[in-house]
Amino acid sequence: MMQTFKRVPLELVRGDGWTVYDEAGNPYLDMVAGIAVNVLGHAHPAVVEAVRSQAGVLIHTSNLYYTRPQVELAKKLRALGFEGRMFPANSGAEANECAYKVARKWGKLHRGGAYEVISTEGSFHGRTLANVAATGQEKFKKPVEPMPDGFRQVRFNDIDALKAATSEKTVAVLLEPIQGEIGIIPGNTEYLRAVRQWCDEQNLLLIFDEIQTGMGRTGTFYAFQGYGVVPDVVTLAKGLGGGVPIGVCLANARADCLEAGEHGGTFGGGPLACTAALATIGAIEEGGIVENAKEVGGYLAERLVKLAEDFDCIVEVRGKGLMQAMVLDRDIASRLQEEALNHGLIVTAANDRVVRFLPPLIIGKPEVDRTIEILAACLDLVLA
Ligand code: PLP
Repeated sequence: MMQTFKRVPLELVRGDGWTVYDEAGNPYLDMVAGIAVNVLGHAHPAVVEAVRSQAGVLIHTSNLYYTRPQVELAKKLRALGFEGRMFPANSGAEANECAYKVARKWGKLHRGGAYEVISTEGSFHGRTLANVAATGQEKFKKPVEPMPDGFRQVRFNDIDALKAATSEKTVAVLLEPIQGEIGIIPGNTEYLRAVRQWCDEQNLLLIFDEIQTGMGRTGTFYAFQGYGVVPDVVTLAKGLGGGVPIGVCLANARADCLEAGEHGGTFGGGPLACTAALATIGAIEEGGIVENAKEVGGYLAERLVKLAEDFDCIVEVRGKGLMQAMVLDRDIASRLQEEALNHGLIVTAANDRVVRFLPPLIIGKPEVDRTIEILAACLDLVLA
């Protein structure tokens, strides 16, 4: 094993709903869900059955042929509120790579060869070289410099910074509507709307990376629906397959410009992954899961704010739906994460001072209450 991951010393062997179990059979309330992936929790019957039955029918074909699940998924993602065409990939990083290629080709066709993508400081877009270049955090760039050309970052939530950085080289603006990895920093509605307007005025593409915010997590299927701002290109991954790897890049009629041979991939959008995605979306729709994320997410935020009344070290609670963060005034996030684990709760430290919650979207208020109860006990221990 390459030592690229700083792992928590825990072996997980089984999951069921919002609970995962270690090898000794100890249960953990999973408030991270594989980093926003297991939107239906673990071993959801709809996903299990879909994967099982599809595995016995057709697992892989390559993209040389049509398969029904792939086409059905493209249609479904359109029906859910984004008028566009789909390129199927295997991960978030790959979905974004497609978005960059769409932007570059579009720049050749419509903006005199412009190719530069402007993203934001603090953003996270994945681990391939282009995505590290697009990501607005030095720590990911430093070890692998030099960066590929064609990416620059400006301050998030600052329209003037974007305007000042735009040049004839600029082809697209890339945003997470809510920055996830850095510790859940929501975009302001006015800012997102102003960016859309700026892109229209300047003839730029607007790309939303909804890899973490999508799939209903923020209380609407696509997070952009909660802001009234429609991008030209959207990327999804993480929760899309309910745990099975899949990513997609969606492009509207304005942006959709890649032609046969200009992009591809062996595995992307295979029948197994697309069937898992269809089953996941089906269960989300049938179960009122998006509405649940909104309601229970609101409750989680409320309970965290209440917790902050008892613990002065909690200085901010921020997020939307079931994408929440608790901000601390001292470097105790990792110790809290460790203590929580000892008490049967999985949360994650986004950095020294931010604890991140990205639970399965099926949790209810009792799971939130349990989370708060454990956090309070752990804060007492860590602060003692
Ligand atoms: N974009 C965002 C907003 C993400 O949060 C992530 C992963 O955390 C990625 C892209 C990269 O996705 P993947 O890890 O599937 O390549």
